Amino acid sequence: MSRAQISKSALNVLYGLKKAGYQACLVGGGVRDLLVGIEPKDFDIATDASPEEVRSVFRNSRLIGRRFRLAHVRFGREIIEVATFRAAHDKAQSAGQALVEDDRILRDNVFGDRDEDAQRRDFTVNALYYDIADFSIIDYFGGYEDVEKKQIRMIGEPYQRYREDPVRLLRAVRLAAKLHFSIEAETAEPIAELGPLLDDVPRARLFDELLKLFQSGHAVRSYALLQEHDLLHHLLLWPEQVEAVDQQLVDLALADSDERLKSGKSIAPFFTFAALLWPIRQEIFAQERPNNEDTYALHNLASHRAVSDQQHLLPIPKRIIQPLLETWSLQDRFERRIGKKPYKLLHHPRFRAAYDFLLLRARAASAAGIEPELAELAQWWTDFQHTDNDTRDAMTRPRSKPKRRRSPKKQSEA
Ligand code: ATP
Ligand code: MG
Repeated sequence: MSRAQISKSALNVLYGLKKAGYQACLVGGGVRDLLVGIEPKDFDIATDASPEEVRSVFRNSRLIGRRFRLAHVRFGREIIEVATFRAAHDKAQSAGQALVEDDRILRDNVFGDRDEDAQRRDFTVNALYYDIADFSIIDYFGGYEDVEKKQIRMIGEPYQRYREDPVRLLRAVRLAAKLHFSIEAETAEPIAELGPLLDDVPRARLFDELLKLFQSGHAVRSYALLQEHDLLHHLLLWPEQVEAVDQQLVDLALADSDERLKSGKSIAPFFTFAALLWPIRQEIFAQERPNNEDTYALHNLASHRAVSDQQHLLPIPKRIIQPLLETWSLQDRFERRIGKKPYKLLHHPRFRAAYDFLLLRARAASAAGIEPELAELAQWWTDFQHTDNDTRDAMTRPRSKPKRRRSPKKQSEA
């Protein structure tokens, strides 16, 4: 591993700790990603110095965290996280400092040495230590070989380690997706069976993982692996039987968002979730249809029920739900192309996202070989945006025979 690949700030911290007489290692995702050949998101450092000792070595540092006490060393906008080596939970338990309930770690904040620190990490490739004292990589569990084999392998007994912290189920999938790795057989085996353990994980922690799964440029693979290991329905409301067109929409949306991130563009979480929750919304719509004549009310009901049911399963923050619902509710309004309405819609603050969603629906429909009128509608809105005022007037002028409001059959949900 070359030091040139490690950020200057991280090297500063490593050398600073060494100079002050402490052990200092780069560990976790940073080492792993460098070995795999991708740019690390961040560099985490582990040391035998206590948080207070780290604090006194670096004036530009502060202590944070409740569950884990950590030091943050700041260099301009970059923050380097420094953690003190910690022991496995059983040592913590005998020291009376960790709470283990039903095999689950509630608190593990007992300090240990580096060997112990390695044991409590999840996967072998996450437990490689780059030691600044001699620039060597310390590999306790064959993580280096697993990098070469491109596999995620659990340290210790997989069943037990998943039970201790069920978020590891998602981490296995997420890292496999992120790194293009496979999940080693014994590590993969318990995942589907233990999926229900996710139902008891604090919702906020689960939502963080959900975002990482779908907003980090590997959404397509994350989705496929979540399906393969039967985990998706613990995170998202998902119909038993997904319509082909809705599956297309999800696939296209995730592929688009991966593509956007790859080319340096940003993606909005609400748009991804608007796509991910679309299948269940469509299912509710179809189920309720026989009981409801009023298409507008039906759309409204399907959208709100999909969202509120999702909130019971795993709450998504309001800042995401609000624009998501707007994006859905504007879909209906694209149908109205006569008079002033199209102009109003064009100036709606959520027009852009709603239009993008319409394009997505049109592409999904055409991939599924249904509803050619949706492509025509999308094209109309593309033209309407880019043409001059006279043409717009012509496009929105009532026909000689005034057009009736479209029948419900015209909706995408047919
Ligand atoms: P990335 O940052 O790319 O998402 P990462 O592996 O660095 O992946 P972090 O959440 O930053 O993930 O965790 C840093 C390190 O802490 C991991 O590499 C692993 O060694 C350890 N770790 C994180 N979460 C767990 C967990 N649930 N159980 C055991 N060890 C964990
Ligand atoms: Mg990390």
